[in-house]
Amino acid sequence: MGKLKSALAWKCPRCGEGDLFESNNPYKPGKMMVMLTHCSNCGVRYEKEAGFFYGAMYISYMFNIAFFVIATVAWYLFIEDLMDWRIYISGYVLFTLAIWPLIYRFSRAIWIMLFIKYAPEKRGER
Ligand SMILES: [Zn+2]
Repeated sequence: MGKLKSALAWKCPRCGEGDLFESNNPYKPGKMMVMLTHCSNCGVRYEKEAGFFYGAMYISYMFNIAFFVIATVAWYLFIEDLMDWRIYISGYVLFTLAIWPLIYRFSRAIWIMLFIKYAPEKRGER
């Protein structure tokens, strides 16, 4: 549980203390995607090898598919009679753009959580 909580708080998966990202505000211009290389608390290296975070794309696909399914089901169940589909689609597109920085961060945080073991007493790069 410690690990999932760290991922959701964008903290180091090993110690749960250090931040994953340079700024805690995902909407800060220029800092949106800037990830730290190491944990400032335990020193673990976040990017285990070059290209490690490409895998996080699978997590973000899953988020996107989940939102799409929810939006589609909601359309047929509740919204179809209430508004024009063009407005709904535009709203959906704006929504996905607005939450994109969050998806990006959660995807990386969850991905790294899958590969780094929770070991709060450990120190060093690996
Ligand atoms: Zn750490």
